Amino acid sequence: MAQDVLLHIDGKWRPAFSGRTIDIINPATEEVIGKLSRAGIGDLDAALEAAAKGFAIWRKTSAFERSKILRKAAELLRDRLESISVLLTQEQGKPLAEARIELGISADVVDWFAEEGRRAYGRVIPARSPGITQLSVREPVGVVAGFTPWNFPVSQAVRKISAALAAGCSFILKGPEETPASCAELVRAFIDAGLPDGVLQLVFGVPAEISEYLIPHPVVRKISFTGSTAVGKHLAAMAGANMKRATMELGGHAPAIVFADADLDAAARILAGAKFRNAGQVCVSPTRFLIQNEVFDPFVQRFVRAAEALKLGNGLDPATSMGPVANQRRIAAMEHFVADAVQKGARIATGGKRHGNKGYFFEPTVLTDLPADAAVLHEEPFGPLALMLPFATFADAIAEANRLPYGLAAYAYTHSAATVTALGAEIESGMISINHHGLALPETPFGGVKDSGYGSEGGAEGMEPYLVTKFITQAGL
Ligand code: NAD
Repeated sequence: MAQDVLLHIDGKWRPAFSGRTIDIINPATEEVIGKLSRAGIGDLDAALEAAAKGFAIWRKTSAFERSKILRKAAELLRDRLESISVLLTQEQGKPLAEARIELGISADVVDWFAEEGRRAYGRVIPARSPGITQLSVREPVGVVAGFTPWNFPVSQAVRKISAALAAGCSFILKGPEETPASCAELVRAFIDAGLPDGVLQLVFGVPAEISEYLIPHPVVRKISFTGSTAVGKHLAAMAGANMKRATMELGGHAPAIVFADADLDAAARILAGAKFRNAGQVCVSPTRFLIQNEVFDPFVQRFVRAAEALKLGNGLDPATSMGPVANQRRIAAMEHFVADAVQKGARIATGGKRHGNKGYFFEPTVLTDLPADAAVLHEEPFGPLALMLPFATFADAIAEANRLPYGLAAYAYTHSAATVTALGAEIESGMISINHHGLALPETPFGGVKDSGYGSEGGAEGMEPYLVTKFITQAGL
């Protein structure tokens, strides 16, 4: 099933003014499966004009009405879950079962923000004099420009769109050029639910061209980006220079700490599932496995067994448990990280190379005996690489966990309540999941610290980035 993808501007699906397109490639087969419209400056101007008009309408639409439209969009996403999941798997590679989960969670996210929008309360502040009323009210920030990546084409976009629309903002989304069809179907669900023209636009093109035009533009009041730390720093600097508010959801290099008193079977099973989900192309993917000396060998054996049990294949095949990586760049990056580590003395416990000669398949890989200067211990691999590192004491584990400038997610397994409490206090990350895998639910905050970015994309906190505070003080006449 091929699908061409159009831009959506001012209530209409249409090609770019220039007629230019970008090929969409299936990473499991390397075949071209569709054409994507590539926006130029004229299209961006049209999107900006429409978004300004859309904001004027949407900010005056009641929170109750906005909530009804959002709920309808969630319903449409659930109705269309199967067909959108197939599109997602074809263009991104993940197994169909994972695509279905992404769609299901995305519908839940829309529902969550539909409700939160009805609770964007202000405050009445006691006054110093009689007859004075002091109000702190929450208003939508304005037109938002969002930039979302290819690893979760639907769920990365839905968090930004739903929160912004629930708050009363209008939106210009630059979707992921490599995985555009499922993202476009997400936008279609909002449009079909009855969103007024101009409230939500979807564009694609050359990412740098689009961000450099939209971020400084006076119509745009807020930007939200998900992607790599390097690009995030560049966009945040541009936002700062133009006094635009920004949310940055960037890379990670998550430590997963396994203490000697942990349930090793459960830890290996759950962590291997988390590591190889979406072929490791997940910002919260566990990457540095810090294993206490006493249980290093038995844990690695269990983990390797779990990695070797995975079946690599086309995500549309129901037997597949891990699909290809999403593009040739990830293959090149995995080959570079493995070669660099091995050349410096690391050992491959399993995997380590490209699989087959068609499609971007890379084996689930486990590395041990890693030297401190292996590049992969410093840079985010964003692929199916698990790095096993032994440690002796709690303090050693914390020092390694906090060593990198990243601070997105962390994981730990232990039976000690004291260790659980100490971990919560000592780990430098935006999120930590202990003795189970429980991140990224619609109702819980999601975001990083340090070089992993700022701002939260879930929970009640997820509304904050799209609201500004206005203070009103009034005297009775
Ligand atoms: P990349 O750094 O070129 O791009 C990452 C994302 O940013 C893509 O979605 C891309 O379209 C966008 N982008 C790039 N330059 C941009 C610009 N000037 N303006 C606006 N958007 C821009 O790398 P890539 O090869 O696509 O992805 C690899 C790296 O990106 C990974 O190593 C990982 O660190 C990061 N990444 C992170 C996430 C996440 O969920 N945080 C998702 C995808 C990619």
